[in-house]
Amino acid sequence: MRYRFDAEDGNNAFITIVRDAEYKEGGVLSGIPVAVKDNISTKGIPTTCGSKILEGYVPPYDAHAVAMIKEAGAVIVGKTNMDEFGMGTTTENSAYFPTTNPCDRTCVPGGSSGGSAAAIASDMVPMALGSDTGGSIRCPAAFCGIVGLKPTYGRVSRFGLIAYSNSLEQIGPMAKNVTDVSKLMEVISKPDIYDSTAYNRPYVHTPSAQIKGKKIAVPKEYFGEGVDDKVADCVRGAISKLEEMGAEIIDCSIPSMKYALAAYYVTCTSEASSNLSRFDGVRFGPKVEMKRSWHDEYRDYRGERFGEEVQRRILLGTFALSAGYYGKYYAKAQVARSNIRNDFLRVLNEADLIAGPTMPNTAFKIGEKSSNPLEMYLADILTVPANLAGVPAISVPCGKVGGMPVGLQIIGRHFDEESVVDAAFAYEQEVN
Ligand code: GLN
Repeated sequence: MRYRFDAEDGNNAFITIVRDAEYKEGGVLSGIPVAVKDNISTKGIPTTCGSKILEGYVPPYDAHAVAMIKEAGAVIVGKTNMDEFGMGTTTENSAYFPTTNPCDRTCVPGGSSGGSAAAIASDMVPMALGSDTGGSIRCPAAFCGIVGLKPTYGRVSRFGLIAYSNSLEQIGPMAKNVTDVSKLMEVISKPDIYDSTAYNRPYVHTPSAQIKGKKIAVPKEYFGEGVDDKVADCVRGAISKLEEMGAEIIDCSIPSMKYALAAYYVTCTSEASSNLSRFDGVRFGPKVEMKRSWHDEYRDYRGERFGEEVQRRILLGTFALSAGYYGKYYAKAQVARSNIRNDFLRVLNEADLIAGPTMPNTAFKIGEKSSNPLEMYLADILTVPANLAGVPAISVPCGKVGGMPVGLQIIGRHFDEESVVDAAFAYEQEVN
């Protein structure tokens, strides 16, 4: 069957729009328009990662998640805008253009999967694929008022996901509601032999609103310094609602949270410095004309085609991994990471779930934080811990502050997306 996509892209959600596409009839997603983040490979459709270094690059194969949604009958209507290589929290680091937030076009949509979130929130598509290395699905979901799930590390194949920080990231579903997120998760979590870190534990589940007796731990660090008071109150209200519905709420502490941002930024920049070395002007994207020495051409090509934030992170990561500094930075970050993982395992041994805000604030104005990288990194404080621990986490809308959406984040045990989805579904059913 053929499908014509004629929606207006008023928020610059897409880098590439596919107007006329074939789809397979009969699957669970038959005829449903789905948007795909531009770091997920799509056979025959340009995949730029939001970068000039991959301008015009057309992958010769589909990512596993893409192959699975096609198999289920989805229509891929385009590739969504993102921070270059996923490095950012607002989609302002796209080498092409910024995406705007459909709830207020003067604000950022969050990032790095900002295009996917904006496409859903503006009703261009009912669902989309995003990727989450340190919050890139949950942050834009929270900022645009939609639902986004970061799966357990290893539950969805990363085959065809262009690597930024491969030990942290996962492809995941984004949609207007929990039911659609769950449906898309079923499709993309099908087994794959091409990713050696994929566990082959497919998610097969129908959301249930039963949360009576579930123990939900609330870490005090999720309401600590830097978290906006109104956002905190809004999320506390949502957690009280879960309590009224029969969940048992317990207070807890994750002391290692204070190392989370440092551990995350050392790990992701180190992995990025290695992963991005493959962009040499020979194998992918625009080609270098070798007129001078290989070293000179390589340096200038990368200097011209990588954006400022990407270059900053490659430099930081190369430094962190260099002889003499490795023990001081990278090795230490891995120790901090195991402590964070252990703290999560300890809390999730006593409780079924952890709840708190997704982001410390609501969507801010375009340009407000873009000149201060450190301030921007601080916005990731509540999302990066789940990636460091490898546990699943969802963001579900739980109200508004100053007219802008707030996300409730629910985190679960490894491979227990089912409980995470059920709690989000129960909340969603109760308030809608
Ligand atoms: N904002 C975080 C970063 O820049 C997370 C991005 C992501 O999850 N891809 O690394």
